[in-house]
Amino acid sequence: MLTLKCPYCGILCDETELAAGGEAHVKRAGPGSSDEAFEAYLFDRENPMGVHFERWRHAHGCGKWFLAARDTVTMEVFGTYKAQTTEPPEEIVAAIRARRPEWEGRA
Ligand SMILES: [Zn+2]
Repeated sequence: MLTLKCPYCGILCDETELAAGGEAHVKRAGPGSSDEAFEAYLFDRENPMGVHFERWRHAHGCGKWFLAARDTVTMEVFGTYKAQTTEPPEEIVAAIRARRPEWEGRA
């Protein structure tokens, strides 16, 4: 069972209280971008075995979107943070590197 801490209300949320929102930090294709860039924005996702950044919504709580870093194989959670960031915060990256020294960072 996945348990994530909502960074807004501070509650430890059971997976059943949350709604998954897919990969976090997806770069949007801007106006005038090529068809290939727009297609990549719509469909290309990392889907790694290991460290992954995801969007979640505290659907049965405060209702806000937040981001989480976790290992998709072990279900280990490295941390959660507010959704208004374009890159993972330093403390989340440090927590990942402390427990996964072989991690090479986001692609
Ligand atoms: Zn919440």
